[in-house]
Amino acid sequence: MKARKTVAVVGAGLGGLTVCGFLQRAGLSVTVYEQAAAFSRVGAGIILSANAMKAFRRLGIERDLIEAGIKPKSYVSRAWDSGETLYEIRFDAASEARYGGPYINIHRGDLHGVLERVVTPGTIAFDHRLVGLDEGRDAVRLSFENGVRVEADIVIGADGIRSRVRENLFGLEPPRFVGAVAQRAIFPAARLRESGIADCTKWWGPDRHILPYFMTGRRDEIYVIGVIPAPPWDSEASSLPSSRDDMLDSFTGFHLDLQRVLEAACDVSLWPIHDRERNDRWSAGRIVLLGDACHPMRPYMAAGGAMAVEDGVILSRCLAAFDDHDAAFRCYEATRIPRVAKVQRISIENSWMRGPTETDWFYCYDPCVAPLLAPDRSRLPDALTSEGDLL
Ligand SMILES: Cc1cc2nc3c(=O)[nH]c(=O)nc-3n(C[C@H](O)[C@H](O)[C@H](O)COP(=O)(O)OP(=O)(O)OC[C@H]3O[C@@H](n4cnc5c(N)ncnc54)[C@H](O)[C@@H]3O)c2cc1C
Repeated sequence: MKARKTVAVVGAGLGGLTVCGFLQRAGLSVTVYEQAAAFSRVGAGIILSANAMKAFRRLGIERDLIEAGIKPKSYVSRAWDSGETLYEIRFDAASEARYGGPYINIHRGDLHGVLERVVTPGTIAFDHRLVGLDEGRDAVRLSFENGVRVEADIVIGADGIRSRVRENLFGLEPPRFVGAVAQRAIFPAARLRESGIADCTKWWGPDRHILPYFMTGRRDEIYVIGVIPAPPWDSEASSLPSSRDDMLDSFTGFHLDLQRVLEAACDVSLWPIHDRERNDRWSAGRIVLLGDACHPMRPYMAAGGAMAVEDGVILSRCLAAFDDHDAAFRCYEATRIPRVAKVQRISIENSWMRGPTETDWFYCYDPCVAPLLAPDRSRLPDALTSEGDLL
């Protein structure tokens, strides 16, 4: 009998843990190698839409995520100066039925605390920073900074925007600074002395935007992310401390409802925003990329994490359906690239839900049952691609 395929996933982010969870359920032998010594509670929130939540339902963590985060009552787009509502999408039982799942906002640390449970205990090798990859005829050898060397049949690069796996495939190419930085703050809602805020509002200015939202169902913790134009980022640091005054300065003239939120902000930090030009090569030999490692995008559609999750589901379905890794990777790329390219384009335009928007194609998508495509874009037979491959 053929030995079980061994898979090494580099990076225990959203994409890495998702692909691992699904591959383990499909019977493959998977180890995740993560450079960090442990998960830390990075000070930021994240929005997870119904398309990603359907994957988390299959992994058994949908309820836990809802409990750790919040199902906002609505998402509202407002004009920066007049406060006029430009668009509103209500999230309720009817929208959940239509999209097939909820929309949640959550603290990234709380998300990771739950996500860790989708993989078999002991699967994640922390403190393993990948420094080298060497592909032989039958396997790939991985080398880590701590001196450990291992071999795997397949390597999945889920190691984020500065992916070492990507560098190994295509050479060193730093990500592109997009000319903007994000000011981020997290603070207790109790600091807002007057009446509360709506669950999730995006304020649209002429050359900047800002999004305050609650991260817990108790509505006791607020996250604000504002994006402003900026000169090139010349620091080596991935973020720098900032201040409430800087944030207030950046949004001078914005509506009083927003000013009130910013007056209460504390722990403000500054993050450069990078992406990469679209590149449709996601694999070579026995090595394949997913998530930010192959298509980092501007965070204006709040969709990069969801794309990493969808990639993880589709890649695991392809690997379960095809014994030959090359066929699996061709199918994965054919299925994913058109959808991801559309999301990349909308993220660059920063147009998502600014005004009336057709959202079904994005939220209704279920990566666990969506058709898998052949390289010529024809649909593969359902027998090959049913969710039975996965679970
Ligand atoms: C300001 C901002 C706001 C955003 N808001 C949203 C949002 O609301 N909703 C949404 O869906 N997306 C959002 N995104 C995008 C989202 O955060 C990313 O797209 C998502 O985290 C990508 O997941 P990933 O698993 O591909 O990579 P990552 O989450 O970056 O994970 C990569 C992992 O690989 C590890 N790693 C890196 N190098 C190595 C190495 N050499 N060896 C071993 N391990 C390594 C890292 O430590 C990390 O754990 C936002 C992004 C930004 C910048």
